[in-house]
Amino acid sequence: MDLGYKNKNGWADADHSAVFDFAEGYKEFLNSGKSEREIVKEALRIAKNEGFVDITEKNELLPGDKIYSVNRNKGLMLAVMGKEPLRKGFNLVGAHVDSPRLDLKPNPLLEESGQALMKTHYYGGIKKYQWTTIPLMLSGVVIKKDGTKIDVSIGKDTDDFCFTISDILPHLAGDQMSRNLGNAIGGEDLTVLVGGIPLVEGDSQSVKKAILTILHDDYNIDEEEFLTAELEFTPAFPAKDVGFDKSFVGAYAQDDRVCAYAALQAILDINSPDKTAICLLVDKEEVGSMGVTGMKSKYFENMIADMIDMSDEYSELFVRHAFSNATCLSADVCAAFDPNFPSPFEKQNTPYAGCGISFMKYTGSRGKGGSSDATAELFASIVKIMDDNKICWQTGELGKVDGGGGGTIAQYTANLNMDTIDAGVPVLSMHSPFEVISKLDLYESYRAYRAFYQSNLK
Ligand code: MN
Ligand code: MN
Repeated sequence: MDLGYKNKNGWADADHSAVFDFAEGYKEFLNSGKSEREIVKEALRIAKNEGFVDITEKNELLPGDKIYSVNRNKGLMLAVMGKEPLRKGFNLVGAHVDSPRLDLKPNPLLEESGQALMKTHYYGGIKKYQWTTIPLMLSGVVIKKDGTKIDVSIGKDTDDFCFTISDILPHLAGDQMSRNLGNAIGGEDLTVLVGGIPLVEGDSQSVKKAILTILHDDYNIDEEEFLTAELEFTPAFPAKDVGFDKSFVGAYAQDDRVCAYAALQAILDINSPDKTAICLLVDKEEVGSMGVTGMKSKYFENMIADMIDMSDEYSELFVRHAFSNATCLSADVCAAFDPNFPSPFEKQNTPYAGCGISFMKYTGSRGKGGSSDATAELFASIVKIMDDNKICWQTGELGKVDGGGGGTIAQYTANLNMDTIDAGVPVLSMHSPFEVISKLDLYESYRAYRAFYQSNLK
């Protein structure tokens, strides 16, 4: 009898064809868009196809009803109403759909030495040197003075043109190579090449003028409209299988669209659960969850209040009870052990790619600072659901003690008095333009979220 614990690679027991099929839909989801707006649009399209209805079109909510609410085109809530009243609690899986990227500055366009360039301001935690010399695309929205909205998505298709940030050749990089990695590329160096043909020979601003002409003629955008626009450069390449055995997916923005997709697919499988099942896709996690579309917004509380009003007698106390009786999986990625960089990890307490969904009891940094620490009672009850459903799971910490740190939306959902634990997919090269996950972990996360939705913990 083996009394020890060892986390286990999940491939041996996995249904390989189910795992690989699931990853095909996932790659399509990633390729449907690069901005948080495009991903919300695609998630909504999928949910509507599966019968989810706009909550504003309903007068009352009955058990089994499937509804959605879009938050300012950058967040999405999906719910399947439970047989029990909402005040008895709900099962929430919350993921984020924003990812590190390069936002355009308000006044981005300039010409320098015959090149048209656009200035950017990076969003989220990036290693800046990783964002040069790769194909970039541009997406977002421009609102015209008359209120018309222009959806921008330039460079998404593989045969489209793209944009890029140049880097200095090694032959002349003596100065750059002597700096440390964090200073090799500065924030103001992330300036994107967007054109090079002058309108009129000899005019120093002629390339910029030519680009403004193209923007006006082809995209109906004038320079002044950049001031109020929301536009972002992201990697242009599509998601790809990685490895001879195609066991991994490499793509931009898998933090946290891998959990968002797993949570979305899980709720699509749910019909008339005991507890109301909710999938919440939020924005702004990468910059601290602030603002109207972040997890700190009142948006979600207001939606729960609305849903109680439409399914029960409304009372402020019922709203509070709904949260107190709720359970939340904060569905976010964690760092997978990287054999290329073993030293930041503590091997006995770190998640591994291919070993299933990873539960993180706490995140934070230093002495667990800034962490929501899930109770042992909650963790054990979730583990029971995993084991009852034969789901491959593991746990761990983010690196060595005092090695760094990070957080998720867990602390903000926990502040609403919901029992919360982090549960997501381990990622290699997190926050890089080409993050890597194991298809096994994606599939086990989907199965985990689905089993959680079907459970009745409290
Ligand atoms: Mn994340
Ligand atoms: Mn992140």
